[in-house]
Amino acid sequence: MKKKVLVDLEVICDSPNYILWGNLEHQERQLELWAKDFNEFIRDHRSQDRVNLSVRRVYKEECEYCHRVWEEYDDGCPVCCTKAQEEWKASKKELDLEEASRQISLDYDAG
Ligand SMILES: [Zn+2]
Repeated sequence: MKKKVLVDLEVICDSPNYILWGNLEHQERQLELWAKDFNEFIRDHRSQDRVNLSVRRVYKEECEYCHRVWEEYDDGCPVCCTKAQEEWKASKKELDLEEASRQISLDYDAG
């Protein structure tokens, strides 16, 4: 049966709404500035001066071409679209070539 287990805790702090407008990159900068400001404010209040606010970023991995969630087959090849798969094949070929030339130079050094 599925069981719910407590594994970690974090404090949620709601920042003022006036910060949260514009795109996420803008909000990220504004939140960083606000958190920095707020941390300086806390420093002035000795009883709480070990409190620190920080901005936690939540990322997801997606394909830059089709924007679907990034998933890979067992060999590392992306699942989502042919453009990503072609790019992966090309970079894999490059890596294989690098590996091959490294192997050749190792053999040469050894020989
Ligand atoms: Zn894709």
